[in-house]
Amino acid sequence: MVVGDISTGTELLVIGGGPGGYAAAIRAGQLGLDVTLVEADAYGGTCLNEGCIPSKALIHASGLAHAVEHAESMGIHARADVDLRGLVAWKDGIVDRLTGGVERLCEASGVNLIEGRAEFVDGNTARVAHGGEGQGSESVEFERAVVATGSRPVELPGFEVDGERILDSSDALSLEALPESLCVVGGGYIGMELSTAFAKLGADVTVVEALDDVLPGYGDDATAIVRDRAEELGIEFRRGEAAQGWAEAGDDARVTTETGAGETNSYTAERVLVAVGREPAADTCNLEAVGIEPSEDGSIETDDATRTAAEGVHAVGDVTGEPMLAHAAYREGRVAAEVAAGEPARLDHRAIPAAVFTDPEIGTVGLDAEGAEAEGFDPVVGEMPMGSSGRALTLGAETGFVRIVADAETGFVLGARIVGPDASELIAEVGLAIEMGARLGDIAGTVHVHPTLSEAVAEAAANAQGTALHTPNR
Ligand SMILES: Cc1cc2nc3c(=O)[nH]c(=O)nc-3n(C[C@H](O)[C@H](O)[C@H](O)COP(=O)(O)OP(=O)(O)OC[C@H]3O[C@@H](n4cnc5c(N)ncnc54)[C@H](O)[C@@H]3O)c2cc1C
Repeated sequence: MVVGDISTGTELLVIGGGPGGYAAAIRAGQLGLDVTLVEADAYGGTCLNEGCIPSKALIHASGLAHAVEHAESMGIHARADVDLRGLVAWKDGIVDRLTGGVERLCEASGVNLIEGRAEFVDGNTARVAHGGEGQGSESVEFERAVVATGSRPVELPGFEVDGERILDSSDALSLEALPESLCVVGGGYIGMELSTAFAKLGADVTVVEALDDVLPGYGDDATAIVRDRAEELGIEFRRGEAAQGWAEAGDDARVTTETGAGETNSYTAERVLVAVGREPAADTCNLEAVGIEPSEDGSIETDDATRTAAEGVHAVGDVTGEPMLAHAAYREGRVAAEVAAGEPARLDHRAIPAAVFTDPEIGTVGLDAEGAEAEGFDPVVGEMPMGSSGRALTLGAETGFVRIVADAETGFVLGARIVGPDASELIAEVGLAIEMGARLGDIAGTVHVHPTLSEAVAEAAANAQGTALHTPNR
């Protein structure tokens, strides 16, 4: 095949088939646009192939194994023998099912799928290089485009990822044998989630974090609960120590760190997982050709309709910077498609939740009390400890709290932080409240099933009003 000998035309070209890109493509197809989606690697992007879904499969399975081995207080005495190869095969099956589903959903919405790497040639043309030698390329003429090229792990100098001794999160999610020991460099949400999972499977885990604490941005009290539990699971924290490099130590790696005061330490582990964050992948599709220059942090700037500086070109998902979360990407993809189809869609970042799938989980949405004050509100705070929730006790998971923040004068719900079992699910109720402009009384006055964890959300709202029944009112 001669390079560039095929030429196709499309109304909307979507570059990247992760949550941002495939959401944009499916929604645009539903709206009747002629859509072409180009994916260079695997449909479903980071989220389905090496992010959210594989990590949550590993977290669930490791939690299950750990739970059955630690249920003596419930009169259960059991041993869990984990076959990591079997666990990874189960996880891979879920990934295959979901990525296949993305292809079928795109096709069902009339989306034309092209496998290859897309690069802009000019404001109306892109070239797609098909994978592999001699596979050729094709030219795609477009009217509008969505850039959804995602992100990649930040590289840490001195720690070149080799997939053997030095791993990134994708490698860690496909290990076929449990390392006896693991040094995790980076205590953000990915580092903490994977540390917890490997510790529950029985690995000896050390977390090295350059900052004073892990999980920055999730609130000191939430972080302290998660860190204490992680220590109970045997995880050792080296906070305020920056990883400098590593050297072979027999079959292990010796990681050297330096404290702010210049003191050096070293830790030996069979494998090292580098999880120091992700950066936008804005350099994969020749943005210069459409006149887009990424900002200093490498992300593409967009307005509240996902429009970039280039006429007719939108950008969505991780490539637009924080929050780098799959559900933010889905929403942005949907908005991009609707705007491209001429609809008056807009992004509203007030109610984008975030969750950390540690033990216990953390869920947050909207403003905390300080944030509310900074925005000119007079906040009222209501809280319900998980230890006062009957359902939490029956789950053997009594650590944590639900904290709701509202405007004192109007009662409008402004935000929440939840630490506890299923916090990632519970936070949705508060997200809906913010989205709807609901007040404390709407949550407190809704009858929740007993006994459930969701009752704690209602009790926290009632507590903010001074009417809680199961926790002392403030
Ligand atoms: C270990 C881990 C756990 C995570 N857990 C969660 C979680 O629990 N919840 C959550 O919300 N988020 C989580 N995330 C983040 C989530 O995966 C991302 O926010 C999400 O995938 C972003 O979607 P996206 O569409 O912007 O980009 P991506 O999913 O990165 O997809 C971008 C796609 O574009 C393709 N591409 C790039 N350049 C080109 C090109 N030039 N031509 C064609 N194709 C191209 C890539 O191959 C890729 O498939 C996790 C991430 C990791 C790494």
